[in-house]
Amino acid sequence: MAAHSHKEADEKIYRLNRVYAMQSAVSRAIVHVRDRDKLFDEVCRIAVELGRFRMAWIGDVSTETSLVKPVTKCGFDEGYLNLIHTAGGESPLDLGQGPTIRTGTHVVCNDIIAEPDTVALRDEALKRGYRSYASFPLLVNANVTGVVTVYADAPGFFDEEEVRLLDELSLDISFALEFLEKEKRHKKADELALQARLDWEETFDTITDMITVHDKDFNVIRANKAAKKLLGLELLGTGKDKCYQHYHGSECPPEGCPSCLSLVSGKPTTVEFFEPHLNLFLEICAIPRHDARNNISGLIHVVRDITEQKKLEAQLRHAQKMEALGTLTGGIAHDFNNILTAIVGYANIIKLKIRQDDPVRQFVEQIVVSTERAASLTQGLLAFSRKVVVNPQPINLNESVERIEKLMGRLIRENIVLKTAFTGRITTVVADSSQLEQVLMNLITNASDAMPEGGTLTLSTDLTELGDEFITAHGYGKTGAYATITVTDTGLGMDDATRNRIFEPFFTTKEVGKGTGLGLSIVYGIVKQHNGYIVCTSKPQQGTSFVVYLPLAKAALQGSASKEAASFKGGTETILVAEDDPEIRRLMKTILTDFGYTVIIAENGADAVLKFRENKDTINLLLLDAVMPVKDGNEAYEEIQNMRPGVKAVFMSGYNSNSAFRKSLAENKIELLLKPVTPGMLLSKIREVLDR
Ligand code: ADP
Ligand code: MG
Repeated sequence: MAAHSHKEADEKIYRLNRVYAMQSAVSRAIVHVRDRDKLFDEVCRIAVELGRFRMAWIGDVSTETSLVKPVTKCGFDEGYLNLIHTAGGESPLDLGQGPTIRTGTHVVCNDIIAEPDTVALRDEALKRGYRSYASFPLLVNANVTGVVTVYADAPGFFDEEEVRLLDELSLDISFALEFLEKEKRHKKADELALQARLDWEETFDTITDMITVHDKDFNVIRANKAAKKLLGLELLGTGKDKCYQHYHGSECPPEGCPSCLSLVSGKPTTVEFFEPHLNLFLEICAIPRHDARNNISGLIHVVRDITEQKKLEAQLRHAQKMEALGTLTGGIAHDFNNILTAIVGYANIIKLKIRQDDPVRQFVEQIVVSTERAASLTQGLLAFSRKVVVNPQPINLNESVERIEKLMGRLIRENIVLKTAFTGRITTVVADSSQLEQVLMNLITNASDAMPEGGTLTLSTDLTELGDEFITAHGYGKTGAYATITVTDTGLGMDDATRNRIFEPFFTTKEVGKGTGLGLSIVYGIVKQHNGYIVCTSKPQQGTSFVVYLPLAKAALQGSASKEAASFKGGTETILVAEDDPEIRRLMKTILTDFGYTVIIAENGADAVLKFRENKDTINLLLLDAVMPVKDGNEAYEEIQNMRPGVKAVFMSGYNSNSAFRKSLAENKIELLLKPVTPGMLLSKIREVLDR
C-alpha cells in the first residue's frame, strides 16, 4: 500500500515536473517568439518533448462560425487531425474542443474509454493510444480564438494541480497572443502613417509650383523640391531663412508683400512680382494657416513662375499695338496720299504750262520737291502699315545684299569696317527688290549711327530652318525654310526698354532733326508684308544684331524681264477714268485732255460700267481707281471685261493688302499705278499700255 502510494506520489511528482518544465519553456518561448504561428509550433513541440504528451495540437477558432481548424501539431497524430479537418466541422467531431469553445473554459477527460459511444472520434483516439486529454481555450479580448489540446497515453493524467498549471499556461499564451495582436495593430498603424507621410511628401515634391511653409515671423520652415531648387534652399531652420530674403532678395518684406496682407486680413492674397535677383516673374499666393483657436499660426506660399506667360502676354500686346498703329497710320497716310496726288498733279500742270523764264516757276518747283518728300513720307507710313502694293519677284538675296554693300561701301564713314559673309547656297526669295533694298539701307544707316566712334558692320546671309523652338521663343512664326540677312554692328546697343519700342513709328532716341523714328517701322512693315520676321538682339555697349527672316522660294523661279523706260507722250485715244475722289478725277481729266486724249469721267465703279456701255465703241482704255464706292475697280473691270473681253486697263491704288486682287492683276497683265501718281508716270504708263 505504502509502496503503491509511493509510486503514485512519484508519478504525480513526475507528471507535475513535466508540466512545470513545459510551463517555463513556454514562458521563454513567449518572450522570444514574435510570431503567432511560430509560437504555436513551439508550444506543441514543448508539450510533446518536455510535457511528454502523446500528441498536442492547436486550432484556430473562426470568429464567424466558431469552428476549429488545426494550425499546428506535434507528436503521434497518424491522420487524426485530418479527420477533424475533413469533417469541415459542422458540429465538431473532436474530443473536447467544441465544448471548450462554447464554454470558454477547459474541458478535461481523464479516460477516453469512458466517453460515450456517440462521440465519433473516441475509437480513433484510442487507436492512436490517447487515453486522456484536456482542451484549453486561448482567449484574445475575451473571445476564444484558439484551442490547445493535449493527449496523454495514460488515464487520469489531469489532476487538479496539472489542470491549474495548464490553465495558467494557456492564459500566458493568451496574453502573449493579445500582445502580439496589439503589436501587429500598432505596426500596421505605423506603417500606414509612414506610407501616408511618404505619399504626402511625394505629392508635395511632385507639385511643380513652389510651396513653402512659413511661421508668423516670415521664417521658412518647409519647402517642396521645386521651391528648394528655385530658391537654392539647402537646410531650413537655421533662422536665416526669411521668406523675403529668398523670394525678393530683400532684408525686409517688400511693399505689397502678400504675407503681410494675409497676416492682417486672414485671407489668401495673390500678388505678382518681377524678381530681378531671380530674373523671374512670380505669382505669389500667400495662404494663412489657423490654429485650433482660429488664430493665424503661419502661412503657406504657393508660388508659380509666370515668366513665360508674361513674355507671351507682352508679345501679344506688342503685336496688337503694332497692328493698331498700322491701321491708324495706314488710314491717315492713305487719305493724305490722295491729297498729295492732287497737289503734285496740279503743281506739275502749272510747271508744264508756265513759261521757262516765269519768276513763279521756282516756287512751283519747290512745291513739287516738297510734295515729293511728303509722298515719300506717306510711302514710308504705308510700308509700315503693310498697305503698299509690292511688286514681288523672285530675287537672289545674295545679289541684293551685294548691290547694297557696294552702294553703302561708299556711303559709310571711314572709321567703320564693312564685312560681309554670304552663304554659298541658293538664296532665292520672292520679294520686292526695291523694298528689300530699303530694309537694308535703313538697318545699315542705324548701325552706322550707333557707331559714332567707329566699329565693324557685318552683313551676312544664310539659310535656316525655323522650328518650333523659334515659335515658342518669340510667340510668333511659321515653321519652314528661310533665308536670313543679318546686320550686326559693334555700336552702342540698346537696353530692353528701348529695344521693345524700336519698331514703333516715330520712336527715336536720336536728337530732333536727326531721327524720324520711321526707319525700323518701315523695315518692320516690309518684312511683315513679305511674310518674314525680324529679330533684334542687343545689349548696351555691346552692339546690336538684326536678323531678317524671309521665306525661301520653293523653286528658283526666273525673274521677269526688266521694263523699258516709257516716253512722255500723249495721244488721241478715248480713256474712261473712274475715280471717286473729285480732286483726283479733275486732275486726271486735266492732264489727259491736255495731252490730247478724250476723257470720259465716271464717279464710281457702277458709273464706269454705265458709261462704258454708252460709249462702247469709242473707249480704248480704262483708268480705274482700285478702291471706290458702289463697285470697286476690280468689279467694274470684270463687268466691262464681259462686255468686251481683253479691254485695256490701268489701275490706280494707294494701297492694297489684298493679295487676291494683286494676283488677278498679274493674271490679266494689268498695270498698276501707285498713288501719288505723277503726270509723267500716268502718261507713260497709258501710252505703254495703249501701244501694246
Ligand atoms: P531713327 O533711326 O530715325 O531713330 P529707327 O526706327 O530707324 O528711327 O530706329 C529707332 C530707334 O532704334 C533709334 O532711335 C535707336 O534708338 C534704335 N536703334 C535702331 N537701330 C539701332 C542700332 N543698330 N543700334 C542701337 N540702337 C538702334
Ligand atoms: Mg533709322
